[in-house]
Amino acid sequence: MVKQAVKVFVRTRPTATSGSGLKLGPDGQSVSVNVPKDASAGPVNNQQEQFSFKFDGVLENVSQEAAYTSLAHEVVDSLMAGYNGTIFAYGQTGAGKTFTMSGGGTAYAHRGLIPRAIHHVFREVDMRADKMYRVHVSYLEIYNEQLYDLLGDTPGTSDALAVLEDANNSTYVRGLTLVPVRSEEEALAQFFLGEQGRTTAGHVLNAESSRSHTVFTIHVEMRTSDAASERAVLSKLNLVDLAGSERTKKTGVTGQTLKEAQFINRSLSFLEQTVNALSRKDAYVPFRQTKLTAVLRDALGGNCKTVMVANIWAEPSHSDETLSTLRFASRVRTL
Ligand code: ADP
Ligand code: MG
Repeated sequence: MVKQAVKVFVRTRPTATSGSGLKLGPDGQSVSVNVPKDASAGPVNNQQEQFSFKFDGVLENVSQEAAYTSLAHEVVDSLMAGYNGTIFAYGQTGAGKTFTMSGGGTAYAHRGLIPRAIHHVFREVDMRADKMYRVHVSYLEIYNEQLYDLLGDTPGTSDALAVLEDANNSTYVRGLTLVPVRSEEEALAQFFLGEQGRTTAGHVLNAESSRSHTVFTIHVEMRTSDAASERAVLSKLNLVDLAGSERTKKTGVTGQTLKEAQFINRSLSFLEQTVNALSRKDAYVPFRQTKLTAVLRDALGGNCKTVMVANIWAEPSHSDETLSTLRFASRVRTL
């Protein structure tokens, strides 16, 4: 299987106001946004400029189940066939990244991609008599270029963690707890533990967890039931909830907030450069420039499927951030 281009989807958060600045095309793939024209461009201040984009799909008012079908189903199928994958949610704080990846509240129908992927994985494990699977999960948080383990005996620990390469040239996070899970229930229990850790971990996060990246990984070891086959095929799926992409206003930001914003801007910019370098098949790919890209290396390069969901908030008051998100997303898609 050859490395295929990154698939990029847009998902809009339902808006409270009727007049959103967004227009969706009838093909289900295009979207345009109206942004007030720069005041310096002329005396008329209610002029609008329109920007149009095309993606692999635009998800508006879709259920969590339908979002899973579009974004994750195929990736999880190939995980179970031995291929790596990464699905990441990008967008400004409040646009629905965590709703998409983890889910909203306790309603069963609102479960996000992670619990649904876990369900899918164990359905395959139970169905495939010809294969033997072992599954582990890990949950990592990256805050200000520091790695934090959200699982294990002492969730929230950071000191021991480092991104390294093993003898096979695969990346792994030394010190990160990989919890063996034998059922959907066990895996979900670990996921929920980690979710709690996102807000109660030992480190102090500013403004909740939207200033950090989280990576929930499902690690799969597959063997054919044929006794002669000792060799396992290893694959992993990273489900990534990225830090909020909003640009910090230039004025008045100092200290911790400025430091966070610099780390986030840097890591999102290298994520884009990495994805683009891979798709151009550049000799040099800047994986090592940030912890985020170093951690995701295996699942971005090589035999893998990569899906990005750009979460946007259709309210006109957010049109600047929406435009910036759509631009990032289309740069990731244009290869
Ligand atoms: P982010 O993680 O990008 O900061 P959240 O996922 O926390 O944003 O979403 C902000 C709020 O909007 C939450 O209360 C969430 O439940 C709600 N929300 C986001 N997307 C949707 C959606 N598609 N449908 C219903 N509620 C949503
Ligand atoms: Mg969030």
